[in-house]
Amino acid sequence: MNVLGIEGTAWNLSLSVVNEEEVVVMVSEAYLPKEGGINPREASQHHTEKIPLLLRKIFEKFPRDRVDAIAFSQGPGLGPCLRVTATAARLLSLKLSKPLVGVNHCLAHVEIGRWMTKARNPVTLYVSGGNSQVIAKKGGRYRVFGETLDIGIGNAIDKLARSFGLPHPGGPKIEQLAKKGEKYYQLPYIVKGMDFSFSGMVTAAERLYGKAKIEDIAFSFQETAFAMLTEVTERAMAYLGYDEMLLVGGVGANERLQRMLREMCEDRNAKFFAPPKEYMGDNGAMIAYTGLLMLENGYQTPIEKSFVKPNFRIEEVPIVWP
Ligand code: AMP
Ligand code: MG
Repeated sequence: MNVLGIEGTAWNLSLSVVNEEEVVVMVSEAYLPKEGGINPREASQHHTEKIPLLLRKIFEKFPRDRVDAIAFSQGPGLGPCLRVTATAARLLSLKLSKPLVGVNHCLAHVEIGRWMTKARNPVTLYVSGGNSQVIAKKGGRYRVFGETLDIGIGNAIDKLARSFGLPHPGGPKIEQLAKKGEKYYQLPYIVKGMDFSFSGMVTAAERLYGKAKIEDIAFSFQETAFAMLTEVTERAMAYLGYDEMLLVGGVGANERLQRMLREMCEDRNAKFFAPPKEYMGDNGAMIAYTGLLMLENGYQTPIEKSFVKPNFRIEEVPIVWP
């Protein structure tokens, strides 16, 4: 089965065709804010402008009459962005007379990670701009064992970068600065039960600006935030007795975060997995692949139920595949 997937929950508009064996093709257009962070209205306008171009590109590489189904990111995400891609997906489904399936964006990050790495039943750390969650499957559902109480870690890093005058996205730039950092400044380490919080840390780090070297602030921020994420991930693994860990989401590209998690896994005799970088952040292949899994297991989304779900939770989807 060849499934065309459409992702556009936030910054990346990405279309991909996937079948049981491979990612056949993927085309993407990233929205970069001129200043400040992601503006939902501007991002949705970007998606509206670029979607005809991406459809043209993908059908040049893959004939439309060989598409068997359409999958789209139904949520969570930015409302205006979700509505653009959902509309395109409905239109394609009707025009090509092929089934439609609405996919949970967080589930898609986990499933493409498992597919690419062959992890069986991991505890997943999902770290992106808007989301930060520790997820594991138990009793036929993915459940969230811990998550951010305020902003996502990616969002927190991007905010810190902006206060240094660096353009969006700040993640890769903060990582480069942190590599040159030497001095550790204590920042609020906030883990409450299994949940964590980043916004107080951002404020505290911003207050150091002008008093400390930005390399040291970036270093201290990463060390503190990543230690919090590693602690909660480890506790979920200990509680569940799982011996695999999967890292997904755009922030997962960070080498320091990967190293901390890998060392934690080595200490517990667990296996650490991370998919290739292009499948870590938001991408169309993850939606197409998860759509394929769902369709093969009897899921379909009729047009009248294809409304967007900006607060769609991963727990809402019963998991019937292994
Ligand atoms: P996503 O929403 O999953 O596509 O992830 C986007 C987020 O990943 C943005 O907040 C980026 O700043 C962040 N990001 C990308 N690369 C890195 C990196 N090397 N280190 C930290 N954060 C990163
Ligand atoms: Mg994401």
